Amino acid sequence: MTTTLVHAGRMLTPTTEITDAGILIRDGVIEELGLREGMRLPDGAEEISATDRTAMPGFVDVHIHGAGGRDVMEGSAEALAGVTKTVARHGTTSFVATTVTASPDDTIRSVEGIARYISQQHETDDARAEVLGIHFEGPFLSPARRGVHPSEWLKLPSAQLLEKFLQAAAGNAQILTIAPELLGAMPCIDAARNAGMVVAVGHTDATYEQTRAAIAHGVRHAVHVYNAMRPFSHRDSGVIGAVFTSPEVSAELIADGVHVDEAAMKVLLQAKGAERMILISDGVSATGMPDGKYMLGKIEVSVSGGICRNSEGKLAGSTLTLDRALRNIVGLGIPLADAMRMLTLNPAALLGIEFKKGALRAGADADIVLLDEGLQLTNVWVRGAAVE
Ligand SMILES: [Zn+2]
Repeated sequence: MTTTLVHAGRMLTPTTEITDAGILIRDGVIEELGLREGMRLPDGAEEISATDRTAMPGFVDVHIHGAGGRDVMEGSAEALAGVTKTVARHGTTSFVATTVTASPDDTIRSVEGIARYISQQHETDDARAEVLGIHFEGPFLSPARRGVHPSEWLKLPSAQLLEKFLQAAAGNAQILTIAPELLGAMPCIDAARNAGMVVAVGHTDATYEQTRAAIAHGVRHAVHVYNAMRPFSHRDSGVIGAVFTSPEVSAELIADGVHVDEAAMKVLLQAKGAERMILISDGVSATGMPDGKYMLGKIEVSVSGGICRNSEGKLAGSTLTLDRALRNIVGLGIPLADAMRMLTLNPAALLGIEFKKGALRAGADADIVLLDEGLQLTNVWVRGAAVE
């Protein structure tokens, strides 16, 4: 493999900022980084001059269903190649493939396919996003807050069914979203924690107390906060009140300006702070595609003006890409370095892989993006391979 030195006008690691920075990439890994003038260009290495660009880690998406006309529930190598290639062009260099509620058999089939893809994904030289694992969004969700998840396949939490999913995932189960008020939720949360999963609350009608009980059992994350949740009220603060006031819980936000309005986004950002926010796409197959009809799992959805809804008019995921999410959050007045950690370091830390992903540091995978002054992407590398 090649050795490349990227010379960037500015680098955000994201915890430190270095102007006139160098990043030396060898065999897909960051070998060295620092001030460019303090670094030597190795023999035979190529130097890329990007002195009018900002370098930052590639984005890590912990909640995404599809892109480029393909859905991760298809489970095929072809479908996952379509998703991974599309999101890489938008700066997402790794993600957790997210299921949508389906029959147990369909879920197991999809998850087995995703696990097979993960075990083989590095056999290609194509620059595409890396699949880090599987996020189970369903079936243990509240019928009252199901969004577009089909009610016929929602289930009460079951450690036995979870065990079947874990077997299908073959070591790749990363995140479980659960409604903690459902009967059987606590043993299921315990089982997921014992299996090493991150457990998140979501699609939930839980009260404040029910959510706090789940946090005591190890819940550390909340999916698409505000969306598909019991609404916040001053005498019934609910799951949102518990998320706001529990520093151990990180919060996802779909920052497309459609799912959550601007003031509500600001409230969440202030409540959680830059260190506990995670920007996600919740992207569906229509991401990166024209308006039209698409599938989310087995649910028919239609996209108009970039907004994705089911036949009842309910929001069905998004067509947001994380480069746009970054610009939207910076547009709210959040400093770039803070906004950036919400798409890089924070999601990587949630998964416990911040030594490898979501940060520019020696020894980390060379997942790097370059942005121009308008925060438009100009270059993306995944494990040192340039994305076309
Ligand atoms: Zn959802």
